[in-house]
Amino acid sequence: MTTITSALQRKDLNLALRLKDCIEKIDKIIFPDCPSRVLIHEGASKRKFRATYTHPRSSGGDYYAVFAKGLDKSLSQEKKDALFMTVEKDGQVKILSRNCPLNSFTPLLIAIACHEVRHRMQYHRKIKFFAPDLPKGKRSNLLEYSLYYVKLLFDDVRKMSRKKRYLLKLQTDRFEVDALTVETMIVHSLESGNPEYIPLLRLGTE
Ligand SMILES: [Zn+2]
Repeated sequence: MTTITSALQRKDLNLALRLKDCIEKIDKIIFPDCPSRVLIHEGASKRKFRATYTHPRSSGGDYYAVFAKGLDKSLSQEKKDALFMTVEKDGQVKILSRNCPLNSFTPLLIAIACHEVRHRMQYHRKIKFFAPDLPKGKRSNLLEYSLYYVKLLFDDVRKMSRKKRYLLKLQTDRFEVDALTVETMIVHSLESGNPEYIPLLRLGTE
């Protein structure tokens, strides 16, 4: 039972509870015999993450956290300003900013929850990581475009983070590439009405 003690914005709290519910349900599907806890933090994450998974090797824990403060503002922005990837007739891939908002928060919440549960899978299950060097024959179009997008996004983060090495390592390692690829594919699968477009996410989940 999560106890919220301070005056948290109602919208933030509602979204935090919905995200907690999504993580719990998806975690239970993947780990039916050992579901994990989901904590709600009233404050914001220092690094502006919406949710995190903490694994046993980093701090002895095995739990998820959702950061409630500012969640409504952060997700509303993402819902409104979704980026899109389009594939031209000559095969060239372009990333565009389009005014084509998502219909609801639901795809974002489910995608973030899948990202976090994927992290738990990385530590507890033998999985094959998605990576840009995955052989072409093993990629669907959706996987291909999602990996391409994640690579572009991480190239940007690397440029911005040269002076902050901790950020560079945290946000661009193979664990994040894998989880963000899953997150991107999920939001597309749930939302895309047009197969040429992939609604894409920005970094904001650890
Ligand atoms: Zn992550």
